[in-house]
Amino acid sequence: MDFQLTADDTAFRNEVRRFLDEQVPPAMRRANDLTTCFIVDPDVSVHFHRALARKGWSVPSWPVEYGGTGWTPVQRYIFEVECARASAAAYNNAGAQFVGPVIMRFGTPQQKETYLPRIRSGEDHWAQGYSEPGSGSDLASLKTKAVSDGDDYVVNGQKIWTTLAHKSNRLFALVRTSSEGKRQEGITFLLIDLDLPGITIRPIIGNGGDHEFNEVFFDTVRVPKAGRVGEENKGWEVAKYLLEFERGGSVMAGRVRAQFAKLSRLINTRCPNDPELVMRLAELGTDIDAMEMIDLSVLSAHQAGANPGPISSLLKLRWSEIRQTVSELAMDAAGEEALRWVDERPLYETLQLPPDEEETLALIPRYLNGRAFTIMGGTTEVQTNILAKSLLGL
Ligand SMILES: Cc1cc2nc3c(=O)[nH]c(=O)nc-3n(C[C@H](O)[C@H](O)[C@H](O)COP(=O)(O)OP(=O)(O)OC[C@H]3O[C@@H](n4cnc5c(N)ncnc54)[C@H](O)[C@@H]3O)c2cc1C
Repeated sequence: MDFQLTADDTAFRNEVRRFLDEQVPPAMRRANDLTTCFIVDPDVSVHFHRALARKGWSVPSWPVEYGGTGWTPVQRYIFEVECARASAAAYNNAGAQFVGPVIMRFGTPQQKETYLPRIRSGEDHWAQGYSEPGSGSDLASLKTKAVSDGDDYVVNGQKIWTTLAHKSNRLFALVRTSSEGKRQEGITFLLIDLDLPGITIRPIIGNGGDHEFNEVFFDTVRVPKAGRVGEENKGWEVAKYLLEFERGGSVMAGRVRAQFAKLSRLINTRCPNDPELVMRLAELGTDIDAMEMIDLSVLSAHQAGANPGPISSLLKLRWSEIRQTVSELAMDAAGEEALRWVDERPLYETLQLPPDEEETLALIPRYLNGRAFTIMGGTTEVQTNILAKSLLGL
């Protein structure tokens, strides 16, 4: 789809392109193109984030008072599309896109002053401590307990699937502070330093062969109450607010379009005359156009920093299915070549093969990891339930 850009927008796009040409190092492009994880290793992307911070562009979706850019929705969209096109990797969505807006909306002045500048600069890396064994879709059943003791909470329990906790220094977590009344009414939202005594982080290796998830254990961890966001037992509201940003707070179409362009190249070079694949590719292109419209309507309807609302569930539903289709079609296009497996990770550091061979080696771990798109951030069934209730009134 081609948009008609104004002269100002074109000038802006050219400025973004110049910046990316200078600041996206070849090593990051390679890592972005060959990573088999969901997220490019923050050790790689942090340098680019710092360059963005120096330019004042590291948190474009934030209000200007907190360091946002003040861009129009079209400019924000152009920026995301160009970053994707240039293979620039996002550094820490859990910080800038998830917990940042929550701190702006519910945080104390002290929390805003402490945490927001450190997210902007890339000094902090945040992880998300929501899920527990047995508490994923049914998040309100969570059991990690926080008991009030003077100026601290004493936390005991376990989180699971904690993405990049091993690369993070901070965690936002839901804990149980009361067992009275409705389950949702006994939950509190805490900001926790991951170097506190009593915290243990253990790796989980995903089915694609990568270490991206972890288990996080709390054994009598004293967390200062100064890290509580919102009131005690009122964390459910905070948690749900954050989930809207997780599901629909970033522009996805740019990234998906960049993957679609690579997929089209793969199909055009390997099997341009396969009518079934070409038809599936065309259908996918139409699905991406439709998703882009939802993306744009969310972006243009909301001020920087504001929550996207329940439409975020529709966006999450569509982008997760579309990204899975991209990986399925890539597997089909590569055929038997896609079935090679190397254990070493990350591929971008271990491989030294011609580019097209390298690309096919990443396909199967990506396909396997991609099964999780429709699980993370709330499963497809959960998003469908939310949409049925909130948008269709069922
Ligand atoms: C890649 C990835 C990254 C993740 N990162 C994090 C992270 O950083 N931090 C974190 O806290 N969590 C993280 N998670 C966990 C994620 O939020 C949970 O996996 C997810 O919420 C599903 O929970 P579950 O795995 O316990 O599955 P379950 O809730 O046990 O679901 C099992 C199946 O039952 C279905 N189901 C459950 N309830 C219903 C219902 N009411 N109606 C219809 N169907 C239903 C589900 O759709 C699913 O198919 C991550 C997960 C993935 C895959």
